Amino acid sequence: MIKLTKEEQKLFKNYLLNTLEESSLSTNVEVRGLCPNPLHNSSHPNFFFNVEKLVGICHTKCGGFSLERLLACLNTDLETIIGHKIDIVDFSQFKESNNVVYQIEDNTKLLLKETLLSKINQKNKDKNIKYEKYDKNNYKLTFFAKNYLFKRGFFNPDLLYDKFDIGYEKYKGYDTITFHCLSGDKRLYTQRRNMNETGPRYLNDKGKKENFVWGLKYLDNKNYVILTEGPFNALTWLYLGYNAVALFGTNPTDKQLYRFKNMLKIVNFDLDKPGNKCYNIIRNYYNNRNIIEFLLPSRKDANQHLIEGKEELLVKLLERKMYGKISLF
Ligand SMILES: [Zn+2]
Repeated sequence: MIKLTKEEQKLFKNYLLNTLEESSLSTNVEVRGLCPNPLHNSSHPNFFFNVEKLVGICHTKCGGFSLERLLACLNTDLETIIGHKIDIVDFSQFKESNNVVYQIEDNTKLLLKETLLSKINQKNKDKNIKYEKYDKNNYKLTFFAKNYLFKRGFFNPDLLYDKFDIGYEKYKGYDTITFHCLSGDKRLYTQRRNMNETGPRYLNDKGKKENFVWGLKYLDNKNYVILTEGPFNALTWLYLGYNAVALFGTNPTDKQLYRFKNMLKIVNFDLDKPGNKCYNIIRNYYNNRNIIEFLLPSRKDANQHLIEGKEELLVKLLERKMYGKISLF
């Protein structure tokens, strides 16, 4: 079993207060809110979790909550919440004992058990992945890659390569621009944009792309961040000197969004159905706080504007959005 320090308890408490709906403190170490079980459509804040004892209960129908069950329901892990590694209970033990953890109707129980077991298996799988060492020299830009980047509005591809974790890779027969997500010198995930006329647009690593964020390490201050769908748009803003990250699509997860909770979020997604859906997910996650929606004209994304040579327009629109400046054009 694990025990959290006072400081870790506080982080956990704040996380629950930010994450559970209709949440409040019921005691100094216990948070109350709507039940986080996705199979329970809760409408009363009858769920309690004690961050000191690391147990909880849903008084409406789900019964007791172990820490593992809570984390599985919230689709996160303790590490993400606390911000550093922590020795966690052995999941295989939990697997054998989870029959007695809760007392609810058999159907729900079965469903929950399956959900939990698949999450646990995924966790164990993730743990077993051997990440390869990242060596920037393996991803040097070729003439073709530089030409491609140039055509996408980046006039100094070598500078991009030096500054950011991007590169070139011949992958499954295709010429690709790579966007690497790293942890230290380990390569966790790579998104590859196919530059050829044929084949799929993206050739990504296996694994859930929504577990990763591209661009995190380039945030030069933590006051604000521009959230984008794809790395070319994030790269565009970084190229222009602003903080930006790519969430790899329009289905952002808590795991991704949690990192930006204390920053001003400038949401620069496409003005289409998925973009709009995504904006709502983000808005709900942060309870509509510290968020600005930032849509670009002509239904074009940031990179398309850059390709058209409109970097000045991009900067003007962004600054006006950020600081509420009156436009001069
Ligand atoms: Zn419940």
